[in-house]
Amino acid sequence: MAASKDFYEVLGVSEKASSDEIKKAYRKLAKKYHPDANPNDPSAAERFKDLGEAYAVLSDAEKRKQYDQMRRLGAFGFGGGSGRSGSGSRRGSSPGGGSGGISFDDLQGFGGIGDIFSSIFDLGSKGKGSGPSKSGGPRKGQDVEYVVELSFETAVKGGKISIDVPITEECATCSGSGAAPGSAVKTCGECGGSGQVSFGQSGFAVKRPCPACLGRGRIPETPCPACSGRGSLRQARKVQVTVPKGVDTGSKLKLSGQGERGAAGGPPGDLVITFKVKDHRFFERDGLNIHVTVPINIVQAALGSKIKVRTVGGARVVLRIPPGTQPGTRFRIRGQGVEKGERVGDQIVEVKVEIPEELDADSRKALEMFGSTAAMRH
Ligand SMILES: [Zn+2]
Ligand SMILES: [Zn+2]
Repeated sequence: MAASKDFYEVLGVSEKASSDEIKKAYRKLAKKYHPDANPNDPSAAERFKDLGEAYAVLSDAEKRKQYDQMRRLGAFGFGGGSGRSGSGSRRGSSPGGGSGGISFDDLQGFGGIGDIFSSIFDLGSKGKGSGPSKSGGPRKGQDVEYVVELSFETAVKGGKISIDVPITEECATCSGSGAAPGSAVKTCGECGGSGQVSFGQSGFAVKRPCPACLGRGRIPETPCPACSGRGSLRQARKVQVTVPKGVDTGSKLKLSGQGERGAAGGPPGDLVITFKVKDHRFFERDGLNIHVTVPINIVQAALGSKIKVRTVGGARVVLRIPPGTQPGTRFRIRGQGVEKGERVGDQIVEVKVEIPEELDADSRKALEMFGSTAAMRH
């Protein structure tokens, strides 16, 4: 691992080099060792990869600071100071022994410091969620967001539903390596093992995970048949969900530990469900209130009437329509709305007065009489 190399030595600059000097040195060396310029020299590819790693850390002020701190602690086994020559890429080998002889491997065991290393060396080369990480300790799995459509009734009354959530899981056949069991693994020729390829001009181009090896840097001779070499599988996982009473479109529910698996023994992520409530033929939701429109005829509106109204809870409530009720009048049936925790809404009933399109002879006569009487009053 390049972590055991001194990034300053790799770039041939002093540890006090300015960011300009670092950039210049990198450009010069990247041109020289670029794989395109050295097609038949694997050591150039190796060197080019080291340059990229060194530059990625030293060109970032924050990462450089962290790196300098670790370097001063002797974390890499080559001690501080750049005055030493010929130190090559040794790393401390006896844990705790000698002066400043902490090896990189030992440090991985200390949670906090290990995290710094992951952040320094995770240069975006790893495929997302692809199996155990090479650099970090246990990591929590990714949270999975999922939208669940609910019927209007289930959203109001709550209930148990079963959903199939697509979740990317480590392939059990190859334990995430992407290699068929027993298959040998070779260094990726496309990226020289760095797991990254550059797009654009020469060495200062944008880096992307290598498409040939999916950012792993290595390629199995025989890809795992179960996952086609990806190391992960997208599978539908059946999850039982208890929908609380009164959820609405946009309500969220978190199911701890139902997300993607953690890496290297880390805990799984969470499943975050967002509800989307389907429309209803009659009922319309407004917060905890339920709106419904009920048709009545002109006689019911004029003379008054009693009508039966269905509530969202399934009850039938008798609603008294007083004489002279106007179209669009709203009536409130208390406590028949949505229940949520301690609160409960009302059902709002709006009457729509329907004018008959056709009349039989008697009705017509009656209405004509009503019409002439009304006209006389005016
Ligand atoms: Zn597999
Ligand atoms: Zn590759």
